[in-house]
Amino acid sequence: MKYDVVVMGGGLAGLICGIHLTQSGLSCAIVSAGQNALHFSSGSLDLLTHLPDGRMVEKPLSMLDELKQQAPNHPYSLIGSAKVTELAQLAQATLQQAGVNLKGSWEENHYRVTPLGHKRMTWLSPESVPTVGLHQSMNLGKIAVLGIEGFLDFQPQMVADELDREGLEAEACYVHLPLLDRLRENPSEFRAINVARWLDRPENMAQMVEEIAPLVANADTVFMPACIGLDSEEPMLELQKQLGKPLFLLPTLPPSLLGIRLHETLLRQFRRQGGVMMPGDKVTSVNFVGSRIESVQTRNHGNISLKAKHFVLATGSFFNNGLVAKFDRVYEPLMNLDLCDIAERSTWTNKEFFASQPYMAFGVQTDHTLRGKKQGDTIENLYVAGAVLGGFDPLTQGCGAGVSLISGLYAANEIVNEFAQDKAMQAEVAQ
Ligand SMILES: Cc1cc2nc3c(=O)[nH]c(=O)nc-3n(C[C@H](O)[C@H](O)[C@H](O)COP(=O)(O)OP(=O)(O)OC[C@H]3O[C@@H](n4cnc5c(N)ncnc54)[C@H](O)[C@@H]3O)c2cc1C
Repeated sequence: MKYDVVVMGGGLAGLICGIHLTQSGLSCAIVSAGQNALHFSSGSLDLLTHLPDGRMVEKPLSMLDELKQQAPNHPYSLIGSAKVTELAQLAQATLQQAGVNLKGSWEENHYRVTPLGHKRMTWLSPESVPTVGLHQSMNLGKIAVLGIEGFLDFQPQMVADELDREGLEAEACYVHLPLLDRLRENPSEFRAINVARWLDRPENMAQMVEEIAPLVANADTVFMPACIGLDSEEPMLELQKQLGKPLFLLPTLPPSLLGIRLHETLLRQFRRQGGVMMPGDKVTSVNFVGSRIESVQTRNHGNISLKAKHFVLATGSFFNNGLVAKFDRVYEPLMNLDLCDIAERSTWTNKEFFASQPYMAFGVQTDHTLRGKKQGDTIENLYVAGAVLGGFDPLTQGCGAGVSLISGLYAANEIVNEFAQDKAMQAEVAQ
């Protein structure tokens, strides 16, 4: 099978890359082994919230030069501030075009409310998540934080207590909803996604409204766990309309409805544009000819190899086996690519639990065009994107999704440009 581009990994980085490639008229297949970080994420996307020295960042794109001083191997530093600025805007436009409904802007971070009721800075948030500008206060009046009896992945009392500490007026309450009784019998099945499958059915709306309305009658605003609106925001908007007051969703423990909805929306866009997704398949080996990759082999395709002119590695970090750590060794399992400097074993972790952990910045080392290297030699047709890249700490720097989106788009842009150049050259030769 032959494509213009084969992307290894179908998380945020692989998908945004595939969307841009197919939008530009290239044929693209994404091979993706399993779930990705979006299934576990808040659904909000971080661009840059802190510098490595711990300073808070309000306007991410204005701090890129400072970031480069402190973290020269950060993917943003390699890509360069002008290009990162351009791609952050392209990322927003691409997400919007795909039908992802997000609020926020590359111009300034905002706060979102976390599942614990804290405020956390981010770049883009789902419309349904409660947010506030960096220098504004939340004017939501009396907040009813609604839990669901027996649902353990969201604790309304904890959220209400934290909102109270922040100076807001919040009270926890619980709804029973008999329609969830069958699910409630099996606690391991009583998760956000399964709850949403029931709450999203139009025939269950009346029962929901009947039970919830009296509980929140004295509130001005309602917060509830994100377990409604798996395929679209429609059921949540309908519930809000029928309750007659603003309704916001807070992320739950994984699986995360908001993250999964984002993933599904991007996947639909990729497929709509003619992209080929191979879910549940895994790249098992990579065949080189000189300094180029010729093809890859996958678990489900046996001897049939996938050939392409360009390849993108977007297999994620340790969480999804894009990187593997043994006691004394870290490696990239598919091609044994060069990694960023990894110091002696005793320095991999910081004893301070909440401090930046050095291992978080482990990852693939690339040249300044994000091309992977093997034993110091650049692989000419391999771009690397997303969490598998080294040089940044997504957690303490608050830049996980931003790195995935921007590096994914960067790779796609480079590939599109190379195809355009080839075409122009061929046309010149033909004349
Ligand atoms: C639990 C968790 C929660 C997070 N929450 C947030 C958040 O709320 N906001 C935020 O900004 N950032 C968050 N992040 C940071 C996150 O890393 C990025 O946001 C981003 O989603 C990573 O995307 P990715 O595509 O680079 O990698 P991943 O999402 O890890 O996707 C990699 C994909 O590649 C597949 N794969 C691996 N090996 C192979 C192979 N050999 N062949 C084929 N496929 C393969 C994997 O199965 C996986 O599907 C979170 C990270 C984690 C781990």
